[in-house]
Amino acid sequence: MRAKLRFLGLVLLATEMAMAQAAGPPACPVEPGSRPVSLTPAKRPTAAQIQQTAEKGAADPTVIISAEPVGNFGVERYRLADYAECVGSGGCYWADLDAQTRRAEAALDRVIALKNPGEKLAVVLDIDETSMSGFCEMRREDYGFLITEMNHWMTTPQAAMPIPGTVRLFNKALSAGVDVFFITGRWDELREATVKNLEISGFKGWKGLALRVGRQKQMATVEYKSQERQKIVDAGYRIVLNMGDQWSDLNGDARGEVSVKLPNPFYYLP
Ligand SMILES: [Mg+2]
Repeated sequence: MRAKLRFLGLVLLATEMAMAQAAGPPACPVEPGSRPVSLTPAKRPTAAQIQQTAEKGAADPTVIISAEPVGNFGVERYRLADYAECVGSGGCYWADLDAQTRRAEAALDRVIALKNPGEKLAVVLDIDETSMSGFCEMRREDYGFLITEMNHWMTTPQAAMPIPGTVRLFNKALSAGVDVFFITGRWDELREATVKNLEISGFKGWKGLALRVGRQKQMATVEYKSQERQKIVDAGYRIVLNMGDQWSDLNGDARGEVSVKLPNPFYYLP
């Protein structure tokens, strides 16, 4: 009995550790010498402290203050870093991400329960900030989202950084006989690196992978992704679930029966 309880305790501990890991930022590989001088210090002033400083300055009759109609980018970057790294009281990106993938899993469970034999069902997934995370590179870039550096980083093994909840969703779909298609805004030149990093991240057995090729590179994302989803529908599938971190992953024609919008505070792709 005691051995059984100890075993149960270990299982619970392992589950808690796995959940804690899913709800916090991943450990980023350290690359000595490659990190630029950071504008985002590890010890950051809180929003309240920043406001106090501004209010104190504004109340000081010896200070001539300026109009500042746009929020200070550096301050926003502190808040973004806090959220992304789950520091302070401004929320935790990883917990929000995980909660949303659990909602997607629940939606998929409902679809699977009603699945008719012989029906071709598809799940569509975006890649960046949906299936794999660019968090470590974005943090290295001080959350500046530098597209050239980002594109280079995507070719490296460090870019194989899975989003745990999406791996769960992926495996759930495959076990139930639902095919999974990736549609990414990445260009086709990144196909080899993308295939490799998806595999390392635990995405094995997918049905399709679309990257922008030829004229698609100039298309609006909504148009390009709609076109790729239409190909899946034309192949006889029902797209039962589509998950992405941008509205442009979800909107447009041949949309998913259920669309799941993941949080992405880092960048916006129209
Ligand atoms: Mg994305």
